[in-house]
Amino acid sequence: MNTAGIRVRFAPSPTGPLHLGGVRTALYNYLFARKFNGSFILRIEDTDQNRFVPGAEEYIIKSLQWCGLEFDEDVLKGGPHAPYRQSERSVIYKEYIQILLDKSHAYIAFDTAAGLEEARNTLSQGHEQFQYGNKTRLLMKNSLSMTADEVSQRIERGDRYVIRVLIPENQTVVFHDLIRGEVKVHTDTLDDKVLFKSDGLPTYHLANVVDDYLMKISHVIRGEEWLPSAPLHLLLYRFFGWEDCMPQFAHLPLILKPDGNGKLSKRDGDRLGFPVFPLEWKDPVSNDISHGYKEDGYLPDAFINMLALLGWNPGTEQEIFTMAELIAAFSLDRINKAGAKFDPSKARWFNHKYIQQKPDEELYNYLSPELIANGIDADREHVLHIIGLIKERVELLSDLWKHSVFFFRAPESYDQQVKQKIWQEGTSFIVEEFAILASKIEPFDKETLHQLIEEFTTARKIKMGQLMNPLRLLAVGSNQGPGMMDIAVLLGKEEFLKRIYRGLKNI
Ligand code: GLU
Repeated sequence: MNTAGIRVRFAPSPTGPLHLGGVRTALYNYLFARKFNGSFILRIEDTDQNRFVPGAEEYIIKSLQWCGLEFDEDVLKGGPHAPYRQSERSVIYKEYIQILLDKSHAYIAFDTAAGLEEARNTLSQGHEQFQYGNKTRLLMKNSLSMTADEVSQRIERGDRYVIRVLIPENQTVVFHDLIRGEVKVHTDTLDDKVLFKSDGLPTYHLANVVDDYLMKISHVIRGEEWLPSAPLHLLLYRFFGWEDCMPQFAHLPLILKPDGNGKLSKRDGDRLGFPVFPLEWKDPVSNDISHGYKEDGYLPDAFINMLALLGWNPGTEQEIFTMAELIAAFSLDRINKAGAKFDPSKARWFNHKYIQQKPDEELYNYLSPELIANGIDADREHVLHIIGLIKERVELLSDLWKHSVFFFRAPESYDQQVKQKIWQEGTSFIVEEFAILASKIEPFDKETLHQLIEEFTTARKIKMGQLMNPLRLLAVGSNQGPGMMDIAVLLGKEEFLKRIYRGLKNI
């Protein structure tokens, strides 16, 4: 592969929040660019004014920043091919659509919405749906079916029109996709897509091809949903005479629902309780809030690591990769052809692994705002100890608070189900007796406590659990948490005993 001048782009349309599939597309482009010292470009494809959603562009940019995917050229920092927002490039597209008109690779069409609807009703044949193309175009209202005079008259009187591509008849379009291999499509299956709309803006197809050419894009790495558009794009390159410098295509496999049945959608996330967006998204119309990985307590590097392996494999057993390792290991030929099943538990697994690798000091920065918000003023060293103790159980950053709250707050209630299971006749008496002895030990550390517990349970001929389970229930309100002795020592003698006596009264 010639790796000189690698330039790739991520080209989202700001029609809503970025789905995790979109983040994966951006990630693969990023890895590919970084691996070959190429350029990674962000181009905002916003020529469809009807689908424009306010805030979506900012959301996309913020999401990719959170993921650590930095662009070399984009709408904020500019670059040699600015502007990078297609709505600001309309003059350019006018010039190029004119070239296609002049070369008779495109034509003007005046059909109204009603006219198209009628054609759909009358010209559909059996199962075959109406297609604006070689079988039907001469039956429609366009510059191929009308005289030149008629066309000029209509334009002069201000009739609205679009410009359609003229798909050549009976040809086979062949191209090599870097993931799928040879792709062959017969032109008779293609329709005369609109390239330029009556609002003076191009459609995706024209703008995308013109910009990829002008921005010197070497590889188009994008989702499989764009594969059906690729033959048209190839024809456009041919019509413009750019086939020699056409980018290479790589169409990524779909991300599938956890059960493998169809494409992963936001609804699956809502139904099964996991986010499909990197950041929280508030819909500007409905005000509905969708969960985001960030707010749900995922680390960006864990999220990225998980996405990298969703459709690509390194060919080894390695699962945990730093970004630098991903860049080194990544290659397009290890991208799978088949769709990748999304597994929410695997996402949590990665996050858990990454949290374990983080120093306690860094986790402190995530827990500390929660403490402040809850009015808890705790000594940093003390909090670091607690983090060290609970870390192993933490899968999401939000668990830091969940698993540590009882260190900062005495329980207000006691899990009655647990109580039913563990509380026996005589339990209160045993606990009270133990508390009296515990109040006397010095120092109140794990070793001394351990010794006391052993002596006590042996002397009373009871099992460890008959003492430890009730102590835990009284100290934390449930059967959760790290080792009982760790909890007691971290709470300190005074607080621990206070909880025991208070619990004995209230349980
Ligand atoms: N604007 C298209 C999208 O929203 C870009 C597809 C492509 O990469 O060519 O995904």
